[in-house]
Amino acid sequence: MDDAPRAAVAEPEEEATGLHLLPVLPVHDIVVFPSMVIPLIVMRPPSVRALADARLRGRNLLLVAQRDPEEEEPAPDGLYQVGCIARHVQVLDLPDGTTRVVVEGLARGRILRFARTEPLFEAEVEEIIEVEDEQPETEALMRSVLGQFEQVLNLSRSIPPEVLVKAMNVRSAGKLADLAAAYLSIRVPDKQALLELSDPVARLEQLHRHLTDELEILELERRIHTRVRDEMQSSQREFYLREQLRAIQDELGDREGMTHEADEYRQKIEECGMPEEAAERAVKEVERLERMPPVAPESSVIRTYLDWLVALPWQKATQDNLDIDRAERILDEDHFGLKKIKERVVEFLAVRSLVATTKGPILCFVGPPGVGKTSIGRSIARAMGREFVRVSLGGVRDEAEVRGHRRTYVGAMPGRIIQAVRHCGFNNPVFMLDEIDKIGVDFRGDPSSALLEALDPEQNNAFSDHYLEVAFDLSRVMFIATGNVLDTVPPALRDRMEVLEFAGYVDEEKAAIARGFLIPKQLANHGLSGKSLRFQKGAISALIRSYTREAGVRELERQVAGICRKVARQVAKGSDRPVTVTPRRLEALLGPRRYLDDDADTHDEVAVATGLSYTETGGHVLNIEVSLVPGKGDLLLTGRLGEVMRESAQTALSYARAKAADLGLEPNLFEKHDIHIHVPSGGVPKEGPSAGITIAVALLSAMTQRPVRRTLAMTGEVTLRGKVLPVGGIREKVLAAHRAHLRSVIIPKENEKDLKELDEIPSNVREDMQFVFVDHMDQVLDAALV
Ligand code: ADP
Repeated sequence: MDDAPRAAVAEPEEEATGLHLLPVLPVHDIVVFPSMVIPLIVMRPPSVRALADARLRGRNLLLVAQRDPEEEEPAPDGLYQVGCIARHVQVLDLPDGTTRVVVEGLARGRILRFARTEPLFEAEVEEIIEVEDEQPETEALMRSVLGQFEQVLNLSRSIPPEVLVKAMNVRSAGKLADLAAAYLSIRVPDKQALLELSDPVARLEQLHRHLTDELEILELERRIHTRVRDEMQSSQREFYLREQLRAIQDELGDREGMTHEADEYRQKIEECGMPEEAAERAVKEVERLERMPPVAPESSVIRTYLDWLVALPWQKATQDNLDIDRAERILDEDHFGLKKIKERVVEFLAVRSLVATTKGPILCFVGPPGVGKTSIGRSIARAMGREFVRVSLGGVRDEAEVRGHRRTYVGAMPGRIIQAVRHCGFNNPVFMLDEIDKIGVDFRGDPSSALLEALDPEQNNAFSDHYLEVAFDLSRVMFIATGNVLDTVPPALRDRMEVLEFAGYVDEEKAAIARGFLIPKQLANHGLSGKSLRFQKGAISALIRSYTREAGVRELERQVAGICRKVARQVAKGSDRPVTVTPRRLEALLGPRRYLDDDADTHDEVAVATGLSYTETGGHVLNIEVSLVPGKGDLLLTGRLGEVMRESAQTALSYARAKAADLGLEPNLFEKHDIHIHVPSGGVPKEGPSAGITIAVALLSAMTQRPVRRTLAMTGEVTLRGKVLPVGGIREKVLAAHRAHLRSVIIPKENEKDLKELDEIPSNVREDMQFVFVDHMDQVLDAALV
């Protein structure tokens, strides 16, 4: 190809000059570049005529942009001076009088002057001939422009991709600039400026700048677009997903699953025989469940609630067996002794068998641990053919534990009573409420009031649990309460109950229980036969004396179990030698003796007296020590004494001081001494007024230096004037004294009747013991001081 500059579009006669007389076609808002092929719609009459002229005379046209694109009929000076000489490639006259023409740009042309403006624009046009000079920089510039152009192309999407191929094949800077400019979306004046720049390199540089701007704008656009899209997406995403989920559920038929579930609940509600009010409630919940999307968290709360409702034994009850002889037999079979208790229980059942009423007193078993309260409860259930359930109230402070939490709480549950009823599956169990004396009260409400509602036969046919919200009939339940002491049972509760006191056992009774019940039971539990393990008689009493110290037989049972375990191990290892437990073998089996025989010192001593106390674990023997030390009359009390015990110590002291003159003591003895009263085993809290006379005895012994008879135990409250008042727990105290081998006991006179009434004190104990009944301290001192 010849690179010499030459006229690109010369017609034969103008070749030398590069001047042409051409019809001019003003265009609105397009700048046409050489090499560009573009369709135009020609509408304005002068333009139509110009085109017709060009067609007629086979001439080219000059396409020039208007300075003001809005101008309808631009005058010559409304046009730019530089335009593009173009060839019409295709012309199509449309029925509406307009013409569609496809033109191809050929070269730049500058209008020198207009030859005419009527009826068409015709001008003398000078073709601008480009001089290409190929510098290495030009090549670099071209590459850079190409690179940019490619990026613009990737980003903008409005430029057809084949343009890039075309651009890559262009070899001259000017042509590349024209091609790129034609496709760039820059303003008309800027495009025109590019057209007017005849220096190809300058034009390309200018274009480079435009491309840079354009790229920036496009990049910005892209970023804005992405951000907007992201925002749109996150907000629409959730909605969209939900809709999809719903559609999927519909497709999979999960909605049907829900209906199926609801129908199942409806059926269960009918079958479980709940009262109408509850059934209405339940059906309402089922309807709520149906309306809810299956994934709603609330729906599982409703399901749990419904499961509770339909699982309760609204109608299910066991058939009562009220055969009195059989009941008696069973109670005897299961327990040694406990004559009075058994009688009362049998009476209780007898009444039930005669009157078909459920309203009776509630039994309350009170006594130390391990004396058979629970075990009698079980026997009652067995005798009546009822289920047995047990709930401990020890440490319950929150009303909600008895009556349940309202369903608005997260993880709400019914209270312990309803839970136990559901668990047992029948609505008429023997229901044991353990540790009723340990129930607490605090800011979360009073559990005993809820309990009262459950126990009270007048209102327990409609027990309302906060969780259930519908009433449940507890009137067929046979409640039995148990506790260790009565004092701490809330009075309102105590009123509703008939108290049966369980006393502790003496050693002989314990031995009989061990032989008749505990040992056979533990042998069976450990898979041993009566042949492989035998207990010598002496061994059992040694076991009781040296390894246990309790009112009941729980520890004893544990020790027996311990021995059975040891033997079972040997049997399992293959030994078939029968084992006989003798008193001597106990140490080998159970380790060293835990308690040395507390055979009280028979040695009489000054300032120590033996008292008797009664706690929830039974009766105990305790020593009270007094010490007078030089000082100024202060009273010091140690041994974790409770308020009442401290007061009774003070009363005893005041009595002793009043008594001092009578006894011929030094009048200012108290001013010059501090008095220290100590009740040993200081780790155990002690409380109650019953140590009054014991403290007084120890004090007066210390003051008079007369020793106290050590084989004598005593209990009783003292007044300031020396009167002795009655105290509680006499039987337990007497048994404790007997256990400690104390053979005489001082007892307030008013308690004498208790001792007579309590014919349960075993006859051997009676025979061993000597009782001194007193109503005044003088009698106490006579008996106690040597
Ligand atoms: P409590 O409920 O009074 O604390 P338990 O009823 O749990 O005591 O009794 C503890 C163990 O002693 C049980 O194994 C029970 O069978 C047994 N037991 C208690 N008293 C007797 C008795 N009089 N005759 C037979 N076994 C008894």
